[in-house]
Amino acid sequence: MPDPVLDIVDVAYRWPGRAGFSLTVPQLSIAPGEAVLLLGESGSGKSTLLSLICGTILPDEGRVRIAGTDTTTLSGGARDRFRAEQIGVIFQQFNLLPFGSVLDNILLPLRFAPLRRNRVGSAVGEATALCAALGLPPDAVSAKATALSVGQQQRVAVARALIGKPPLIIADEPTSALDANSQAAFLDVMFAQIETHNTALLMVSHDPRLGARFDRVISMYDIAQVERAVA
Ligand code: ADP
Ligand code: MG
Repeated sequence: MPDPVLDIVDVAYRWPGRAGFSLTVPQLSIAPGEAVLLLGESGSGKSTLLSLICGTILPDEGRVRIAGTDTTTLSGGARDRFRAEQIGVIFQQFNLLPFGSVLDNILLPLRFAPLRRNRVGSAVGEATALCAALGLPPDAVSAKATALSVGQQQRVAVARALIGKPPLIIADEPTSALDANSQAAFLDVMFAQIETHNTALLMVSHDPRLGARFDRVISMYDIAQVERAVA
């Protein structure tokens, strides 16, 4: 068994000032190249767990190991750099820079990640190749990100997460705003890319119908203890 790309042990977290909600995750591992779908109802702590994995928040207890490094031991700045190097993130609303071109958006993570940038020979060449692989027309590269259709923006979000081949992609309900056809198309382009590069994927959804495409489907019920006070 290769070392896991993600390994969580005995993580506990409470949002500051919110006594009503607590999340505990005893154990969660993802192997290199493994595609995992995480299911759970709204408010069950899925996005909180992804923030703990990305290191944008720190657990009160336990450890989060990404590609062999316990990120809870890193300082804030080191953790930000480590995240940029190791994790490609796709948000629900894609979070593209509205005033940037498609190219600016795709290259953004490399600015904070020298190792990831060194993994691509020419950053512009790699971005252009990713666009082509994802079915974006060649002239889209210089377009404003907001001038694109939603379907094209999704592809830009995937390209931005994949550039420089981070070992782990984290996607938070990236298909929730899409109809069934665009959902399938989104997953097609994403899976084609992660399979080519042996990238691990942890994707959150509340739609169990997506499960068939993944190596493993887990649910918040099985991996986490969640306490929620009735307000
Ligand atoms: P899910 O993604 O499964 O819908 P979340 O992790 O977003 O669940 O939310 C779980 C709980 O954490 C909710 O009670 C929510 O209000 C709280 N929460 C989420 N984000 C924040 C935040 N930034 N600050 C304070 N509380 C938050
Ligand atoms: Mg969420």
